[in-house]
Amino acid sequence: MRRALIAGNWKMNGSREANRELLDGIKAGIGEVSGSDLAVCPPFVYIPEVAEQLAGTPVKWGAQNVSHESSGAFTGEVAPAMVREFGCVYVIIGHSERRTLYGETDEEVAKKFVAARAAGLTPIVCVGETLEEREQDVTEDVVGRQMDAVIAAEGAAALAGAVIAYEPVWAIGTGRTATPEQAQAVHAFIRQRVAAKDANVAEGLQILYGGSMKPENAAELMAKPDIDGGLIGGASLKADQFLAIAKAA
Ligand code: 13P
Repeated sequence: MRRALIAGNWKMNGSREANRELLDGIKAGIGEVSGSDLAVCPPFVYIPEVAEQLAGTPVKWGAQNVSHESSGAFTGEVAPAMVREFGCVYVIIGHSERRTLYGETDEEVAKKFVAARAAGLTPIVCVGETLEEREQDVTEDVVGRQMDAVIAAEGAAALAGAVIAYEPVWAIGTGRTATPEQAQAVHAFIRQRVAAKDANVAEGLQILYGGSMKPENAAELMAKPDIDGGLIGGASLKADQFLAIAKAA
């Protein structure tokens, strides 16, 4: 049985004060969450403070991106070992906003996956199709290609303990959620893609859904057999909504 993971992707949101309030709210309600693990991914600069505020709680934290390089003349970049030093357990890799706004390729995402693992981080690898791709009926081609790049990097065994997030681009921040059936179909496809290489790794792989997940739709999405939690954007910025999603798992 796979345990559910509810991870908050704060994106470029927050302030020291707002973060404290949010984390205080999460900490106050965490005792009522039993069926899932929780994590938050703040912007880099807030990681040390978030780490202090969450130390000793069951809530883990992570980064939203990392460099695939480990050190050197890479102005503006942050290395995996640096965030690990501040207690990050997770790192989001290949979010669609990174892919589309910052030109990250499948190859780049695969390199980041390898670097993150080498530093002892758990990558949360994001995959997903655009609306145009869905309408052209090439969702499986796109998601298959994105998965294959990561699988090819170090073999399927490297996905043991990693996390995949299926985030249909058309559902991100749009209020438009994939139906549980649409999401389940792609989650099952992702698991099969890994199972073709390593059935055991596929069975244990946590595959999260992301894209306008909220308290109202979380339970029916996570009731599907291959949906093992959520990667939450907007709703992770409100303690009550984030906790309600966690309780729905
Ligand atoms: P929303 O939950 O705001 O749609 O964002 C989803 C997402 O991109 C999480 O990484």
